[in-house]
Amino acid sequence: MIAEHSPGTGAAGSVAARRQLRQALLGGRVAHAYLLAGGGEAERLELARYLATALNCQNLQGGEPCGRCRSCRQMAGGNHPDYHLIRPRGATLKIDQIRELEGRLGYRSFQGGARIAVLEGADTLTEAAANCLLKTLEEPPAGTYFILLAAQPDLLLPTIRSRCQEVLLGTAGIVPANGADYWSRLAGGDLAVLLEEILPGLEEEEDLPGVLQAIALACRDQLVWQLTGSAKLLLQPGCPLAPPLPPAKIWRCFQLIQAARAAIERNANRRLALEVLMFNLHRELAGASVEG
Ligand SMILES: [Zn+2]
Repeated sequence: MIAEHSPGTGAAGSVAARRQLRQALLGGRVAHAYLLAGGGEAERLELARYLATALNCQNLQGGEPCGRCRSCRQMAGGNHPDYHLIRPRGATLKIDQIRELEGRLGYRSFQGGARIAVLEGADTLTEAAANCLLKTLEEPPAGTYFILLAAQPDLLLPTIRSRCQEVLLGTAGIVPANGADYWSRLAGGDLAVLLEEILPGLEEEEDLPGVLQAIALACRDQLVWQLTGSAKLLLQPGCPLAPPLPPAKIWRCFQLIQAARAAIERNANRRLALEVLMFNLHRELAGASVEG
């Protein structure tokens, strides 16, 4: 199990991440693309807004936005014309959205400052969208900054990651310990068990996105264990592993759980999102067994 409140994670991780960005601002070494990874959705967005505000502040003080200039006031009011935020439509960030963003970035900056594009849920980019974005990251328009936000940076194309300066917010401190327990029950349950026993428990979880994240990590651990047999690579060593399953099915389950988490973080109906997850998991796992 991962200890709670370990150093460098959770809120502390967020403070360290902000310090890292502030130093880049102070040193004039701001990268044109960042990947803010880990932590909670709100923390990542808050950090992106800090960087975006600071980049356009006309009176930056010690790396902190002044909060009073025109640009800072527009950022605070949510109407800065050079700040572009896109978030997944449905479960993924789609190529149309990337093209639309690129269209908007094709014009000059409205106020002569930096143009900032924030991509929430960058770990949900479809392959086509990721390849489209990659071309822009390779030759970014002048004065444009990209800030990618991802709970699961491992899901991004390595070519995209390598174009971004990575800033870690840390997740270990906020991973609830019951993820592995949930996952082994989900992987072994029939549909009635999923709907009657597991779903109501999940629905009552206070930090449902956090619990779903922990379940996804347990699912990931099982995949890594089955493929490598190496306990060193497990994120939550010592947790019970579900019965063996074909790796392709585990991977699909991982994606389903992440999609449900992303939907709930964007305020989807919890009950409905969980029901969809249960049906999809059941369909994926029905009759699944590992040969030999
Ligand atoms: Zn300002």
